[in-house]
Amino acid sequence: MPFNLDHFDPCAVPSPCYVVSEAAIRQNLEIIDGVQRRTGCRILLALKGFAMFSLFPLIRQYLFGVSASGVYEARLGREMFGKSVHACAPAYPEAEFHELLAYSDHISFNSFSQWDRFRDRALGRGVACGIRVNPERSEVKTAIYDPCGPCSRLGVTAANFRPDRLDGVTGLHFHTLCELNADSLARTLPVFEERFGAHLDRMEWVNFGGGHHISRPDYDVDLLCDLINDFRRRRPLDVYLEPGEAIALNAGALVATVQDIFRNDMDIAILDTSAAAHMPDTLEMPYRPEIAGAGKPGEHPHVYRLGGMTCLAGDVIGDYSFPEPLTVGRRLVFLDMAHYTMVKNNTFNGIRLPAIAVWEEGGGVRVARRFGYPDYLGRLS
Ligand SMILES: *Cc1c(COP(=O)(O)O)cnc(C)c1O
Repeated sequence: MPFNLDHFDPCAVPSPCYVVSEAAIRQNLEIIDGVQRRTGCRILLALKGFAMFSLFPLIRQYLFGVSASGVYEARLGREMFGKSVHACAPAYPEAEFHELLAYSDHISFNSFSQWDRFRDRALGRGVACGIRVNPERSEVKTAIYDPCGPCSRLGVTAANFRPDRLDGVTGLHFHTLCELNADSLARTLPVFEERFGAHLDRMEWVNFGGGHHISRPDYDVDLLCDLINDFRRRRPLDVYLEPGEAIALNAGALVATVQDIFRNDMDIAILDTSAAAHMPDTLEMPYRPEIAGAGKPGEHPHVYRLGGMTCLAGDVIGDYSFPEPLTVGRRLVFLDMAHYTMVKNNTFNGIRLPAIAVWEEGGGVRVARRFGYPDYLGRLS
């Protein structure tokens, strides 16, 4: 079941607070593990999207390892997750590379110049090395999320690929999707193979990246399995996938509390959270999060513009309607707030970070972490 509100009491946690359901995470993992079992592929958790380490003991039961966007995520993966750690980033700073090597067993390089710079050190440590390629097949409609757009800085295009410099490279990596279904992979794979297939004969592994919305109810898991099985029949390689969002999709909420209500042309409610600080993707993507028990304006009689605590004029989550008038102190539950929230939040305006709680499978809610002034201070000097 997704985050099941029938049995959740938003007053049982501090406010604001991210609450993530173990049962919902497990349900996502069961679906994702089905793909591993049906195809023999290996699935990694992309820590960039969800890095709630108090749930790693659960996630580790299902997934092969983690994917890291840099040295800190690689370290978190090595120390808190264990298993396999794959790194992939646009560049690896020289000063951090020795540390990255200590934490990673696979490293994908975003250019042949990065590969040349670090090749000997990586091979000397026995790390499996890959090149991130760019198949130039755009599936993502929003430009800011499309790694295949013009002048992309993500991955080597076919025109810039260097077959003469592959000595020591054992894998190819591509990441071109975002919140997409298997039909997008079905269109991307043939283009990838057409452009880079000639080099796959000398490879041992290939990474299909993230952006596979595997745990979404309408996701075509059968098609994904067919694509991977078909690929592996033709090419005897280890196939990796590294979704982030799919692991935590619909598995968590952000609980907030109404602090003030007033009027300016319409009813406005200020919450003890912030679109800008605690759910930045609502402004960046942008999108409108669902609230339990609320609807779009017009669905219910009482309409409010919900805003956050920062000075930003645009720190507005959206306009929502409720069956009853809101009151100060009322708790609101924003849905699907586990992924790309706690990994992205910030202390703009010095507002407090939401606590992090685990809604355990046994039914209890455990507050895993509370934040305070030291967390704000620790980011400044
Ligand atoms: C963002 C990203 C992922 C994870 O993407 P999701 O949309 O969270 O599944 C995986 N790999 C790479 C290289 C990424 O940049």
